[in-house]
Amino acid sequence: MTRRFLVGGNHKCNGNKESLKSLIEALNCANIPPKDTVEVVIAPPTLYLDYANTQINRDRFSVSAQNCYSESKGAFTGEISAEMIRDLALDWVILGHSERRHIFKESNELIAKKTKHSITQKLQVIFCVGEQLSDRNANNTEKVLDEQLHSLSTALSVEDWKNIVIAYEPVWAIGTGVTASPQQAQDAHVYIRKWLAEKVNEKVSSETRILYGGSVTATNAAELAQQSEIDGFLVGGASLVAASFITIIQSVS
Ligand code: PEP
Repeated sequence: MTRRFLVGGNHKCNGNKESLKSLIEALNCANIPPKDTVEVVIAPPTLYLDYANTQINRDRFSVSAQNCYSESKGAFTGEISAEMIRDLALDWVILGHSERRHIFKESNELIAKKTKHSITQKLQVIFCVGEQLSDRNANNTEKVLDEQLHSLSTALSVEDWKNIVIAYEPVWAIGTGVTASPQQAQDAHVYIRKWLAEKVNEKVSSETRILYGGSVTATNAAELAQQSEIDGFLVGGASLVAASFITIIQSVS
């Protein structure tokens, strides 16, 4: 089973219209593999989604929201819905990022509900999982992954999984400059794939793309990408620097 590489750039709450404009200009003329070899998705802050989608070369890149709520509309001040993302003609949303889980205290259940709702609106979801340093030190990595995946699988039908890309992002590696070693990342990805085979089915296990995220840089991407179970990256900081992001994209082909 060939899984197409995917590289996501999560801008988080960074940048402005001017910096996004230069980033997009650089991406539009970058020498990167075609979309059917490497899929590239950028996730600017919500306010710039429409701008990004009108400026970017959509034959080569897609634009993703960084989050959305679990309901279609209503009295949820500050939130956006999956329907609104679709209304902008976007296909992607990131859900369950560790910053949503830990800073904004989103529960496994809420994230699973958001994911199901997004899929009903025909969005593709980059669903993030990952353990904190204390979990890893206490040998609880697998337990944390089990819990995060379990609540997702109870919300989804088997069919829904074709709209899911999993991003394994150990919290201790996000924005810290400490990258998981290729072996640590590979081991976690093998575990997630085994989990999918046992709890969902073999087909979902072999077809679901599993990205690695956590201090991926232009320097370490190529070695990580060589791991058999790493199907791409979710990149934070390095996705804001055109040259680094382009090198990361080139390194996975
Ligand atoms: C992220 O935000 O998903 C991330 C992995 O960040 P960074 O690459 O900066 O560690």
